Amino acid sequence: MRNSVIIVAGGSGTRMGADIPKQFLQIDNKAIIIHTIEKFIAFDPKIEIVLVLNESFSDFWKKAVSDAAFDYPVSIAKGGVTRFHSVKNGIEMVSGAGLIGVHDAVRPLISVDCIKRSYDTALRFGTAIPCIPLKESVRQINGRMSKPLDRSGIQLVQTPQVFKAEILRNSYNTDFTDQFTDDASVVEKAGFPINIVPGDEFNMKITTREDLEIATLLLTRQTHPLH
Ligand code: C5P
Repeated sequence: MRNSVIIVAGGSGTRMGADIPKQFLQIDNKAIIIHTIEKFIAFDPKIEIVLVLNESFSDFWKKAVSDAAFDYPVSIAKGGVTRFHSVKNGIEMVSGAGLIGVHDAVRPLISVDCIKRSYDTALRFGTAIPCIPLKESVRQINGRMSKPLDRSGIQLVQTPQVFKAEILRNSYNTDFTDQFTDDASVVEKAGFPINIVPGDEFNMKITTREDLEIATLLLTRQTHPLH
C-alpha cells in the first residue's frame, strides 16, 4: 500500500517578522518547503504528497516550484484556523490507504533515516512519533516563582508523526479541543497507544531568526557535504 505524507504549511508563519512566510524563505537557492518535501521523496520516490497551504500563499508556492524547477505531483489542501483543522483538511485529500505521516513544512533538516524509523515503526505498531531527550534543565514558571521539573521523564516531540491511515482518519473524526497540539495528542485521545522512536537532533523546527541562521548552516552542509 502506498505511503502518504501531509506537509502542513497552513499557518501564517510570520512569527519571524519576515515579509515572506518562513517556509518560503530560501536556503541555498531553494525554498525551505521544497527542501522538506525532497526529503520525503528521497525516503520513498513513490510517496503521495499532500501539501496543506494557507490560501494566501499560493503565489509563494508557485514561485518556489518554478525557482527550483520542482517536478513531482503534489495535491494541495486548504489551511484551517488551527493546525488540527489544517491536518483534517489534508486527510481528506489523501487517497493512499497505507501509512500517513504528518510533517511540519518548517522542518527541512529531517533525516531520511528518521523518516524511515517512523514509517517502519508505524507499519509494525500503528503509530510512531520521533522524540528527543532534553539536554537542559527545565523549570516550571509560575509568576515570579518557579520549580524544577524532573527532565528524565520529559522528551521533545518532533515530526513526522506517522499512523496507519484508518487510525489517523478515525482519530481526526472528532471536534477540536485546545489540548490538540500535535497529531499524537489527537490519536491518543481516540484511544490508540503512541509509540516513541528516536528523533533527530538536527530536525529543528525553524521558528525564529536564530533558528533560520542555524538551519542555513546545517542545510547548506547537508546539500554540499565536505569531502
Ligand atoms: O504554528 P506552529 O509553529 O505550531 O505550526 C506548526 C506547523 O503547523 C507549521 O508547519 C504550520 O504551517 C502548520 N500550521 C497549519 N495550520 C495552522 C497553523 C499551523 O498548517 N492553522
